Formats: sequence, C-alpha cells, structure tokens
Amino acid sequence: MPFSTDVNVPRGHTVEFPDRCIGCGIPARNGYVRFARRTVSWFGVVIPYLGRNYVIDVPCCAGCESGIVGQRRKRNLALWGASILVAFIVFPYLDGLARPLRKPVGLAVFLVLLAPVLYVQFLRPPPFDLYVRSGNVDLEFEDADYAAEVYALNSHAGATIN
Ligand SMILES: [Zn+2]
Repeated sequence: MPFSTDVNVPRGHTVEFPDRCIGCGIPARNGYVRFARRTVSWFGVVIPYLGRNYVIDVPCCAGCESGIVGQRRKRNLALWGASILVAFIVFPYLDGLARPLRKPVGLAVFLVLLAPVLYVQFLRPPPFDLYVRSGNVDLEFEDADYAAEVYALNSHAGATIN
C-alpha cells in the first residue's frame, strides 16, 4: 500500500491491537474485521491457492467493517469479472493475432478493465493491509499513530516499525 506505516511482526506472534476501530478510531467494543492472506511466494503467483494461510482480526466498528468488506467485495468482483470477460469474450477475438501477441494483448485489456478499480483503490486505500512472508508479516497502516501504538504493544515480541 503506498504511503503506509508498516509494522513488521514475527509470523507466529499473536498481534495485540489498541482497543479502537482501525477505520475511524472510536472504541471498537470487541468488533473486528478479518484479513486473510497467503504467503507471498513465487508459486503463489502461478497457483494462488498454494501457500499457508495467515488470518488476523483487526479491531473495527460495525460501520467501518461493512465499508471495508464492501470495498473488498467490489474489488474481488471486478477482478473475477475482468478475468471472465478476458478469458471468454476477449480471447476468442484475438485468434486473428499472431500467437506471441495474444497473451500481452489479453493482459493489457485485463488491466484496462481493472483500471477504474485500481484507481479508486489508490484514492481511497483501505485503512489496513498486510503482506505475508514465510517468517514474518508486514502490517500496513494508513494511520501512522495507530501503527505506532501497535508497534508499542508488540515491540516486546520483536516487532519493528518503518
Ligand atoms: Zn470505525
């Protein structure tokens, strides 16, 4: 995520969060929003279902939770929609092209279809995201103060901030 403050934690550590909403900062009252990611690896790009799953619950009020989940749903829907459109409608039209050109042209159409979604994502990034590696996890916060609090709560377990 661009312009985020990242807290890096060991993967096995259960992350402690301040008791307030990741979106708006009000007391979260035991509400949360769940994020799940696969380990980023070379085969994950080819086969995204492989790689171990990492799940984390981040404090969140009901209003922000529905906003974050809704935005995520729209993004996934756009991703699937663009994939299906390119695979079943655009690709058959590319038959006339020379074979080495088909995939790059298909990919270009795919990115053009996704551009509005990526643009909205850039303008209104989610308040939280994560990047999972084999040994540790980057927690990416839009709010630098929130990130600093998470760092303070988890520095005893080897968390770092940047
Ligand atoms: Zn909230």
